[in-house]
Amino acid sequence: MSDCIFCKIAAGSVPSDTIFEDEKAIVFKDIRPKAPVHVLVVPKEHVESIADLEENHSTLIAHMIYIAKRVAKDLNLAGYKLVFNVGRGGGQIVDHLHLHLLGGWNGKPDNDAPLHV
Ligand code: 5GP
Ligand code: ZN
Repeated sequence: MSDCIFCKIAAGSVPSDTIFEDEKAIVFKDIRPKAPVHVLVVPKEHVESIADLEENHSTLIAHMIYIAKRVAKDLNLAGYKLVFNVGRGGGQIVDHLHLHLLGGWNGKPDNDAPLHV
């Protein structure tokens, strides 16, 4: 979508602190981190939300989770949270599907974090 910020980041027309990229997705640092490590796994395809998923997106979702696992390992995270905010009522602000990867609490996870991402 032409005016979607995450489509622009995925296309490289808006800069981001990118830490991983492949043909289907990009991973970059959240501009306003809510944890010591806070990155977003974003598919290059514009899907608005988990609420808009079709059955044929299941491979894409699995791929996003697999990428999150690999990035978490590369960043040496001891543990982490994976969060999808879904719709305004679920705290979703950017209407382009994204998976939050949060971690880096040094063994003391902030258990309020998922409610406030
Ligand atoms: P949501 O609340 O939609 O699940 O999360 C959107 C996230 O995207 C927020 O944590 C917000 O800080 C982040 N964000 C919004 N705009 C930008 C941007 O232009 N660049 C980056 N790197 N992160 C952004
Ligand atoms: Zn988009």
